Amino acid sequence: MSDIDLKDYIRDIPDFPKPGILFRDITPVLSSPAAFQACIDRLAERYADRKIDAIVAAEARGFIFGAPLALKIGAAFVPVRKPGKLPSKTHSHVYDLEYGSDTLEIHSDAVLPGQRVLIVDDLLATGGTVEACLKLLEHFSVEIVECAFCIHLRGLEGEKKLAPHSVYSLVEY
Ligand code: 5GP
Repeated sequence: MSDIDLKDYIRDIPDFPKPGILFRDITPVLSSPAAFQACIDRLAERYADRKIDAIVAAEARGFIFGAPLALKIGAAFVPVRKPGKLPSKTHSHVYDLEYGSDTLEIHSDAVLPGQRVLIVDDLLATGGTVEACLKLLEHFSVEIVECAFCIHLRGLEGEKKLAPHSVYSLVEY
């Protein structure tokens, strides 16, 4: 396994997308095949023997890490999308935002009761996105193995929102 320090490939962008926000940009990780490979390898090492049936990931950045990890550990990849994007019958969950609300959808036949599911996203901030994925999955009676991220912004306490599910990340700030 490589000894790459992933923090060397995460770029800080001040005031994006709004003044006062420090955005952790993962595109330099993606530009480096070695760093991107290290991310997927390290996640795969943790989950290869955990009997994961499906990886569920929300668009768009969750797909980037979720899909190659699913291939590597031999799990199904299940996309969660904004409304109107998935072509077959869907199940949806509406959740509150600071101003207004948002909706996420999953195909109704994408996961089966009792399956072992890993949720993957690029970054855990407030936890709102993955909390919405967890609510979406409640309908299916699956077993959530863990929520996995490349980056965890600890100060925002997103892990509290996801409790009692456990959270794992490759990098913390
Ligand atoms: P949360 O829902 O946990 O507040 O925010 C996490 C979601 O927003 C993730 O899907 C992630 O892609 C995006 N996000 C929020 N802040 C950042 C950031 O600083 N860097 C990146 N790469 N994504 C972010």
